[in-house]
Amino acid sequence: MKDSILVINCGSSSLKFAILANAGQQTLVEGIADRLGSTESSISFKFEGTKTEIALSDGSHKSAVNQIKEWLSTQPQIEASLAGIGHRVVHGGETFSESVLINKAVIDGIKDCARFAPLHNPAHTKGIEVAFELFPGLPQAAVFDTAFHQTLDKEQFLYPIPMSLYREHHFRKYGFHGTSYRYISKHLAEIYKESINEGVLVAHLGNGASVCAINNGKASDTSMGITPLEGLMMGTRSGSLDPSLLSFISEAENISPEEALSILNKKSGLLGVSEISNDCRTLEEAMTSGDSKAKLALDMFASRTAKHLVSAATTLDSIDHLVFTGGIGENSSYIRSTICKYLKAFNIEIDNTLNDTAPRGEVFEISANGHKTKVWIIPTNEELMIALDTINLIQDKP
Ligand code: AMP
Repeated sequence: MKDSILVINCGSSSLKFAILANAGQQTLVEGIADRLGSTESSISFKFEGTKTEIALSDGSHKSAVNQIKEWLSTQPQIEASLAGIGHRVVHGGETFSESVLINKAVIDGIKDCARFAPLHNPAHTKGIEVAFELFPGLPQAAVFDTAFHQTLDKEQFLYPIPMSLYREHHFRKYGFHGTSYRYISKHLAEIYKESINEGVLVAHLGNGASVCAINNGKASDTSMGITPLEGLMMGTRSGSLDPSLLSFISEAENISPEEALSILNKKSGLLGVSEISNDCRTLEEAMTSGDSKAKLALDMFASRTAKHLVSAATTLDSIDHLVFTGGIGENSSYIRSTICKYLKAFNIEIDNTLNDTAPRGEVFEISANGHKTKVWIIPTNEELMIALDTINLIQDKP
C-alpha cells in the first residue's frame, strides 16, 4: 500500500530526512546529510538499528537527494510504498496559512518569503526543485513553521511602528515552531479532550526557543517575531532586547549593523552569558560542578521564558494547561522547575518528585495537586505532522 512519506528538512548546509509509514506512526529510515557545500559532506542512514555513512561526491543538495533515491532502490518495498514528499518550510509569510501541495506558484511564493528567511527559504526551494527532478512522479507538500500563527489578532501580530511599513513591506510578527505547536495542540486534545476548548500555553524550548498561547485550539500569541530572534533567550540568540543596542554595539565595536545583528543571533543567549556553551546539558553539568556563570545563564533563560509565558497568557480566557516540549523542555527538570518557580503568582505549580522522575520521551503530567493549571511534558513530533499533512493533501487532491 502506498502510504509512506519522505519528510525533508533542507537547510543551507544540511538536509535531514525521514521516511514515515503507516499514517506516520512508524519511522522506517532517517538520516542527515551534513556539511553540504563543502568537500567533507556525507549522508547517514539509520535503518533497522544500524547507521551507515556515505561520502557525497560533490557536496550538493542534489547529490544528497540522489543518495536517498539510490538507497531506496536497494529497498524496493519501501520505494514502492512512497506516496509523496513533505517539506518543512520555515517562512510562509502572509501567503501561506496552511500546508499546501507544491506547484510552480507555491515555489514562487516560498521564494518571495525568502527576504524574511534568507538562509532557510532558498535552501528549501533548492530541496523542493531537486526532489521534483529526482522523484518526478511524486506529489510534494510544503508545511510552514509560520502557518499556525496566522490566526493571531492584529493587536498581537502588528509592531507599533508606522503602519505604512506593514502595508508596504509586510513587517509584522510571524512566529515560528508552528508545526510543533500544532502537533502539541492536537496531541494534548487526544489525551485530554476538553483542552481543545481551553487555554493552553506551550514552551518549545530547544536550541531555538519560543512560547505560544493556544485559545480554543487556535494560536492567539507567540514570542518569536518577523524572524526567530525575538522573544526568549535561546542557545545563541539574545531574544528580545532594546533595539538601540544594535547601534550601540556596532559603534562601540566598530562593526556594521549586520555584524552586530550576527552577534545577537550567533554569540548571545546561553552561550553569550555562560561563556561556555549554547548547550543546556553542558551548562547543567558545569553548574553542578559549581560554575556560577553557567547557573546565571540557565536562570536567565528560565526567568525570561516565564515572562514570555505570562505575556502570551494575556490572550487566553484561562490558563488550563502548560506544556513543555523541545530538547530542553522535554529533558531538563532544572529548567522546568525554575520556570515554574517564577509562575507561582499565577497559581502554576509542579510536583518536584514527578518533575525529577519524568520518564524520557513520554507524555507525562507533572502538575502539583490542587492547582488548576495542568502541567505536562509532551515530546514534540514535527515530522509526523509533516507526514500527516502530506498524506491528507494527497488524498484530498481532486
Ligand atoms: P533541540 O534544539 O530541541 O534539539 O534541543 C537541544 C537542546 O536540548 C540542547 O540545549 C540540549 O543540551 C538540550 N538537552 C537535550 N537533552 C537534555 C538533557 N538530558 N538535559 C538537559 N538538556 C538537554
